[in-house]
Amino acid sequence: MNKWLKSLKTPCYVINEAALINNLKTLSDLEISTGCKVLLAQKAFSAFAFYPLVAKYISGTTASGIFEARLAHEEMQNKENHVYSPAYKEDELKELVKICDHIIFNSPEQWQKFKKLIPENVSAGLRINPELSTQGGGIYDPCAPFSRLGSTLKNIQGKDLGGIEGLHFHTLCEQDSDALEVTLDEVIKKFGDLFPMLKWVNLGGGHHITREGYDIRRLEKCIERVMKYGLDVYIEPGEAVALNAGWLAASVLDIINHVGDDERRMILAVLDASAACHMPDVLEMPYTPKIIGAKEKGEGKFNYRFTGNTCLAGDIIGDYSFEYELKEGDKLLFCDMAIYSMVKNNTFNGIPLPSIAVLRENGELETIKHFGYSDFKNRLS
Ligand SMILES: *Cc1c(COP(=O)(O)O)cnc(C)c1O
Repeated sequence: MNKWLKSLKTPCYVINEAALINNLKTLSDLEISTGCKVLLAQKAFSAFAFYPLVAKYISGTTASGIFEARLAHEEMQNKENHVYSPAYKEDELKELVKICDHIIFNSPEQWQKFKKLIPENVSAGLRINPELSTQGGGIYDPCAPFSRLGSTLKNIQGKDLGGIEGLHFHTLCEQDSDALEVTLDEVIKKFGDLFPMLKWVNLGGGHHITREGYDIRRLEKCIERVMKYGLDVYIEPGEAVALNAGWLAASVLDIINHVGDDERRMILAVLDASAACHMPDVLEMPYTPKIIGAKEKGEGKFNYRFTGNTCLAGDIIGDYSFEYELKEGDKLLFCDMAIYSMVKNNTFNGIPLPSIAVLRENGELETIKHFGYSDFKNRLS
């Protein structure tokens, strides 16, 4: 790996093709063992250069918005194209019905408002909220109090759902299949009465299927349980498709021996990658990404705080420890950066966007995209 890293221009996201294929094989095996259909949730990973590869293994994509839906329509042809939005705009929906085969509404009111626009060949679904939190709450919990994401049982009671062919729920985030199992219990208990009028159920995303130790057998049982009602089952993982399938490569620009008035010391390394611009989840979630060859804070001989090269004081990636001393120009690989980093990056401060490269299965590195000044300028006026 070090061979290609030496000559790599940073910052750069590097997709690990072998790891991506490995994940896709696991998801394809799930389709084969159960008969379910797996969709890529594009909001986690939209590097469309890989869509032809993704299309070899799974059934299609799902979109959270008009442009994702269009991207899949253009770049992953002859596959299923689903979309869900908390609320649709009429002009966008008119475009969506031409390019999507499944459209999921968030409320009976949205369905009533727009059902006349849905043609015969498009299957409409309703997102439900089973109101069962299986995670700690917070910004990633669609079952948090007063959530807008999906209709509660009380919100659909007495409403006309005629024409709705599927139910969709998405309540998990980076979870194992035990959380799905209890969620499914709740869904069947609350919404099982609706199953006879349906054609399909979509179990959403948040299933960490490709993480080591994930209980796939239990997931298969959940899928089989829904299929016993005679329904098709969809599952739409984002993370699991490209989990651990990419790095962000960065270089050390400067090393500052920070000494304060009180003699407190910290060695700061300023990188050409930024938490704020290139790995926003580090600040938003927040979490500290792993770096290849680094140990946890205090565990090695040399300790550093890695920071981005922006003006944001809080642009701090994390504290790390190494057995060797870092120098200016050294390169670092941040792990698990294919998901939710590339799709969320930005050019705050006029910082250039990382290039995109792929480490091919045969070990060769190929840069597939470079961004420049116009990518920054074009979206500002
Ligand atoms: C975010 C999201 C997904 C994908 O979630 P992951 O955690 O990346 O698997 C799937 N469906 C919906 C509706 C989502 O909002």
